[in-house]
Amino acid sequence: MTLRTQPQRILLKLSGEALMGEQDTGIDPVILNRVGREILEVQAQGVQVALVIGGGNLFRGAGLAAAGMDRVRGDQMGMLATVMNAIAMQDCIEQLGGQCDVMTAMTLEGMTERFNAHEARTRLQQGKVVICAAGTGNPFFTTDTAASLRAVELKADLLLKATKVDGIYTKDPKKHADAVRYEHLTFNEAIEQQLGVMDLTAMVMCRDNRLPLCVFDMFAANALTAIVRGEAMGTMVEV
Ligand code: UDP
Repeated sequence: MTLRTQPQRILLKLSGEALMGEQDTGIDPVILNRVGREILEVQAQGVQVALVIGGGNLFRGAGLAAAGMDRVRGDQMGMLATVMNAIAMQDCIEQLGGQCDVMTAMTLEGMTERFNAHEARTRLQQGKVVICAAGTGNPFFTTDTAASLRAVELKADLLLKATKVDGIYTKDPKKHADAVRYEHLTFNEAIEQQLGVMDLTAMVMCRDNRLPLCVFDMFAANALTAIVRGEAMGTMVEV
């Protein structure tokens, strides 16, 4: 896919798993550093960058519920896991010379700020990276939905979902050698064909707010920079 014009403001969704690299859990500092550098490179090109990070590398409510925990409490742990990832990324970006604020969906006084869309837009305009953490603040939601919600609230031009594969395929490319990557899809096609790009709530949110989504491989060299420059990369989903 290619972009017609360079986006002014993007929201990048990183899964928690993307941060753990080859480890089974936790955060790989090498990966963190690499992602942090890419974010600052894109910013240096004049693009404002907001981030939503998942927490699946630490806890997921559904997994904790399957192990016997109350789902609401499990989801609360999941949301707090996203805050830990966000703080790690904030530290990394600052050590690389950038400025970064973490805004959470609930008050965590003394640690982060409460999310405020208007204030977040101001910080982005000031050249700061803004990490929106703790998901939507509600159980039974995902950070994909939080990413689409925050992207719309922040008036982002593009939502970028970093995955481990280089886009959306007709079928699972790890299992089927004949799987073909889509360069372009509509949200309705992705929803009807149940392509499993993002959860349904997130897809509908993007569709109804005409927010384009690009699904790409974060680990392809300089992928983020290439996308905002308009180079062909990943799959673009639009209305
Ligand atoms: N979560 C939640 N509400 C939200 C976002 C996340 O309860 O709005 C919890 C949920 O338990 C989820 C966990 O936080 O499993 C981590 O988020 P997610 O699974 O989306 O992370 P990712 O798969 O992107 O690493």
